[in-house]
Amino acid sequence: MIVDRQGRSFRNLRVSLTAACNYACTYCVPDGKRLVAAQDELSAAALVRGVQYLIEAAGIERLRITGGEPLVSPRLEEFLHGVAPLGLADISLTTNGQLLSRKLPLLLDTGIRRLNVSLDTLDPDAFRGIARGGDLRTVLDGLERARAAGLRIKVNMVPLRGRNVDQVLPLLDYCLDRGFELRFIELMRMGHLARDSAGFHAQFIGLDALLALIGEHYEYQQASAPVDATALRYEVPGRGYFGVIANESVPFCRTCSRLRLSSTGWLHGCLSSSNRHYVGDLLELPREQALPALQGLLQKALGDKQEVAFSGGATVMKIIGG
Ligand code: SAM
Repeated sequence: MIVDRQGRSFRNLRVSLTAACNYACTYCVPDGKRLVAAQDELSAAALVRGVQYLIEAAGIERLRITGGEPLVSPRLEEFLHGVAPLGLADISLTTNGQLLSRKLPLLLDTGIRRLNVSLDTLDPDAFRGIARGGDLRTVLDGLERARAAGLRIKVNMVPLRGRNVDQVLPLLDYCLDRGFELRFIELMRMGHLARDSAGFHAQFIGLDALLALIGEHYEYQQASAPVDATALRYEVPGRGYFGVIANESVPFCRTCSRLRLSSTGWLHGCLSSSNRHYVGDLLELPREQALPALQGLLQKALGDKQEVAFSGGATVMKIIGG
């Protein structure tokens, strides 16, 4: 296993199956264009080999499938069948939920038991304004079906001043009622927001403001979380849990164990670094040849991690794999 001076190693891998997305969320995609896949995305077989080699070369234990929107990828089925037998401790998927009802049988068949579903509002007009694609009712139906099928569900919400702060409490209520754990994700300076400081600050709502808002209506207490967890967890006694991924307010770089593999074959060791390392060619090689080269690149990728805090990144989240 490759370990850095701060004792960090890669244990959690995120694979972006495609850069294409059926949404164009305002904070993720600046130009409002949807469904733009990269020309040179790797095959499902190459991405599966990527996971397999990274388990060996880096000690990956857990996999999250993301994108873009993973459920729009034509590689989804082959990829899920390919990674299911690799012996990972956990395989989960992050989706906007638009195709969830349709893909649920496949997810269940291939052993997916945990989902993160992104949902920024329960208001149909605000939904259209933020996501710029998709349909709120379809997402809510997908969530109900996934819940009925027994999947463990977290809901991701990015609170944005002037857009959906009024939805913090309704969404929390919605999630607590259904046993979903709501994850508030502080807005990150990614892509166009890394260059637009005024735009970022105008929308950003941080941990303290969020907790103050929640505290006006709910009793809550801090709950325990794993050492390398990115979210601070809170319990609303008798009702359930919520979390805050407080990238800005309480940076978690010191314990970050994440590695990202993009759909086009680039390894990213850190969201906040513009460095990336091409492994697409290595994934065509037999294991014995690929692993030593991969280890060299992993060492570099680990060196890309910030020491303390996320400081912004030029890459768009849907390309790097959010
Ligand atoms: N399409 C899937 C989805 O919607 O969940 C997976 C990819 S999406 C890029 C993953 C997560 O990244 C979503 O929850 C989204 O809200 C979040 N995200 C994207 N850009 C962000 C930003 N600038 N700040 C914080 N979260 C962001």
